[in-house]
Amino acid sequence: MLEKVPLLEKHLDDYVGIVGDEVCERIRAAAAPLQGARVLHLSATAYGGGVAELLATHVPLLRSVGVDAEWHVLRGSDEFFGVTKEVHNGLQGAPVEMTPAMRKVYLERVLDNALALERGWDYIVVHDPQPAAILHHVADRHDAFADTKWIWRCHIDLTDARPEVWEFFRPFVEQYDASVWTMPEFVPASLTMDRIVQAPPCIDPLSVKNLDLAMPFATEITRQYGLDPQRPIVCQVSRFDPWKDPIGVIEAYRIARDEVPGAQLLLAGSMATDDPEGFRVWEEVEAARAGDPDIRLLSNLHQVGAVQINAFQRIADVVVQKSLREGFGLTVSEALWKGRPVIGGRAGGITLQIRDGVDGYLVDDVATCARRIVDLLADPGGADRMGEIGREHVRANFLATRELTDWLGLMGDLNG
Ligand code: UDP
Repeated sequence: MLEKVPLLEKHLDDYVGIVGDEVCERIRAAAAPLQGARVLHLSATAYGGGVAELLATHVPLLRSVGVDAEWHVLRGSDEFFGVTKEVHNGLQGAPVEMTPAMRKVYLERVLDNALALERGWDYIVVHDPQPAAILHHVADRHDAFADTKWIWRCHIDLTDARPEVWEFFRPFVEQYDASVWTMPEFVPASLTMDRIVQAPPCIDPLSVKNLDLAMPFATEITRQYGLDPQRPIVCQVSRFDPWKDPIGVIEAYRIARDEVPGAQLLLAGSMATDDPEGFRVWEEVEAARAGDPDIRLLSNLHQVGAVQINAFQRIADVVVQKSLREGFGLTVSEALWKGRPVIGGRAGGITLQIRDGVDGYLVDDVATCARRIVDLLADPGGADRMGEIGREHVRANFLATRELTDWLGLMGDLNG
């Protein structure tokens, strides 16, 4: 058996006050034909990054509406995660070569996992490239999986994927019954399968990261991390990954600070277990910070967990997510939900969440990012109004209840 992730308790009824009766009723109706269905979500890691964040809510919510869902994670290795990080970069457009040695490491490790995969599932949802070949590897155990519907969930923007990396994965993906994508634009033209579905990710308004937090509490936490809550705070929360452009954020902040001298920058980023690049990028960002006391670098190694992220996103005057490439960018909805305007890189799913000039700004470069930081810091009332509009945009489109509706609908369709 693969490693089973322990789950929190979530109850759909608790969401009625946030999304209303009608939405919850629709979810119950969609769940009715799926009572007792055995659903496995399989991902690379239980901690760090957006997929883990999503599944920590989605799987318990499936259970709360009568679906027998579980979340398991791959048994990886440093070598395997080194390869899959390269693959991830290649699929996002970096010049990566998929060497025979890399293919071997990848396929052998996925085969080990395939052999440990339990039988008897009605649906198996496989997240991202790390476990993608698992279906291929269980093909010879056909009896054990004959009644299983297989869904591949791609969280990555494949618009500029390196052809040789994508072509390695495409035959594995095409064996699935359906694939699910954040945006239609992410789907490579070469992908041939009957069911290609769009269902962007969502945030959980009742997770510790997003629950309402009293401002004195948020202020105190911020102070304990060495920031001055009386002065403006610009904040980006993300893994230490070049695609999140933390160094670009520092450059933009430095330009903005010339006009808003008291401003501080907080970069908070977790180190995910499947992301071996994190420590190297951390060092690079630390070097770019050059000892500046108004630029804070924090990670889960400083005990920055969900509560702290909640406080930082809430207390920030401006939240930035200056990604150069992004699947979705949960941090954007997280901040908008807290009523903060967000300046986001014009990349992938960020463009679904930020309507330029409405709930924040979309930017293409450091200079524009800096200008928008200054604009928002100069007009706190306008910034608050944008944040409020953003909160309603998230309520309508990017809460976990919407995602639940999409997935129940897809599973129902695959049954029909
Ligand atoms: N996150 C966190 N602590 C950190 C950095 C990130 O909890 O120090 C969370 C963040 O709040 C968000 C998720 O990790 O929920 C990142 O998801 P996103 O879609 O923004 O990016 P990904 O890491 O999946 O590329």
